[in-house]
Amino acid sequence: MGAVAMPHKATTAKAPLGEELVRLTGVNQTYGRGTRATEALRDINLTIHAGEFVALLGPSGCGKSTLLRIIAGLLRPTSGEVMYRGKPLDGINPYTTIVFQAYALFPWLTVQENVEVVLKPLGLSPLQRTKRALNLLDRVGLDGFELAYPRELSGGMRQKVGFARAMAVEPELLCLDEPFSTLDVLSAESLRGELMELWISGAIPTKAILMVSHSIEETVLMADRVVVLDKAPGHIMADVPVTLPHPRSRKDRALLQLIDQIYATVVGRTQTEAEELGSAPGEPGRTRPLPHAQISAISGLLERVNEEFADKIDVYRLAETLGESLNDILPIIEATELLGLARVDAGDLSLTPLGQTFAEARIQARKEIFAARIRRVPLIRWIRTMLDRAPDKRLTWEVFTTALSLELSPDEAERQLETAVNWARYAELFSYDGDDNVLFIEQDTPLPQEAGE
Ligand code: ADP
Ligand code: MG
Repeated sequence: MGAVAMPHKATTAKAPLGEELVRLTGVNQTYGRGTRATEALRDINLTIHAGEFVALLGPSGCGKSTLLRIIAGLLRPTSGEVMYRGKPLDGINPYTTIVFQAYALFPWLTVQENVEVVLKPLGLSPLQRTKRALNLLDRVGLDGFELAYPRELSGGMRQKVGFARAMAVEPELLCLDEPFSTLDVLSAESLRGELMELWISGAIPTKAILMVSHSIEETVLMADRVVVLDKAPGHIMADVPVTLPHPRSRKDRALLQLIDQIYATVVGRTQTEAEELGSAPGEPGRTRPLPHAQISAISGLLERVNEEFADKIDVYRLAETLGESLNDILPIIEATELLGLARVDAGDLSLTPLGQTFAEARIQARKEIFAARIRRVPLIRWIRTMLDRAPDKRLTWEVFTTALSLELSPDEAERQLETAVNWARYAELFSYDGDDNVLFIEQDTPLPQEAGE
C-alpha cells in the first residue's frame, strides 16, 4: 500500500504566497470568425503566485485547455494582457510545461530515454541527464522500469513517465491538463499521491501547479484554490480557497462541506438547500419523497439534452423527442433538479454546469458527482446514518419501511426505499441484499489514500 498512500507525514507548511508568477487581465479568446466564431473565454482575470497549487474546474468546452495554452504561450489570446513574472508574455513561456491527458511518449525509446530526450536542449551533460532522469523515475515509482519500452507499461505507468518527463525539465509552473482522467482508479490514486508527495515535500523545484480537473473531489483533495469556470463563453464563476492541511482525507467533514459548497456554486442554488430538500423521517418538517427515476433514465436524459440541445429545451418537446409520455419523464426531470443537474424555468429544461459535467464524464466521475449530491438528500442521509450506527452496518428492509410508513402509504414507503437503494447502490453509499432482506454498507476495502487511518 505504501506506494499508493497519500503522504502521511506532517504537513510541510508551504511558505506564504511568494512572488507573482502569472497575471491574466481581461483575457478574451475567440476562435474563428464571423458566424463560425466561438467565444472560448471572456474576461479572464487570474493571478497565480509561487507556492500555490491552483485547480481549474469546469465542464468540457469551458476553455480550460485554452487557458493553459495561453499561459504556456502556445496561444496568444484575442485580447487582454498575459504577464509572467511581471513581464508581458511574448511567445512560448519558458517557465512552464504542460502534462496532457495522455502523454505522448516515443515508442522507440526506453522509459529512461524518453525522459532524457527532453533534457538535451537544457545543455546538461549526458551524465547529468541520466542522473536526473533516474532520480525522477525513482520518485514517481518507476524504479526498475528504466529500460522498459512504453508498450510494455500500463496506462498509469506511461502517465508516470509523462510526469517524470515534465518534472525533469524543472518547470517553475507545472500545468496539468486532466492528467488523471484516462487512468483507472488505482493508478490515478497512486499518481496523485506521488505528485502530492513531491509537491508538499518540496522535492521538486516547481514553484506552482495549475491543474485542470473534472472532479470536485480531486481538486479539494489536492489544491490550495479551486477556480470554477462555466461555459458559453468560458468565464470564472468562483475562486474558492482550500486551506485544509495535508494529508487530506476524503471523509474529513470540512472537506465534505467544501465539496458541497463548490457543488452549490456549480449548481447555482437560489433557494436554501434545506427548504428545497425537505427533512428526513423523524425530523421536524415534511419528508420530501424521492422522484421515482432510475439512474439509467437520469443519465440517458442528461446525455440526450447535452448532445442535442445546445441551450435549453421545452419539456413537452423533450418528452416527444424521447418518445415518452410527460408523466414518465416528469420524475426523471424532478430527479435531475433535486440533484442540481438541471433546472426548469418557464417550461424549459436546461442543464446546470454540473449536469453538463455529469453528461460528459466517465463512469467513475459520474458516480462521484452523484454520490456527493445524494449524500445531501435527507432520506438517503437518514438511511446511511442508521446503517452507520447499526451493528455490522446492516438493518432489515422492514426497519426502514416501518419508519417511512409513519408518513407515507405502505406502497409508497416500499417504492421510496427501492428508489433510494437504486440511487445509493450506484453511488456506492449503501446496498441491498435480497437473500437476507437487509440494507447494508460494504465493510469497505478502505480507499487507498486512507489506508492506515
Ligand atoms: P476545455 O478544455 O474546457 O474542454 P477548450 O479550451 O478545449 O475547453 O475549448 C473551449 C471552446 O473553444 C470549445 O467550444 C471548443 O470547441 C473551442 N475550441 C478550442 N480549440 C479550438 C480551435 N483550435 N479552433 C476552434 N475552436 C476551438
Ligand atoms: Mg480540455
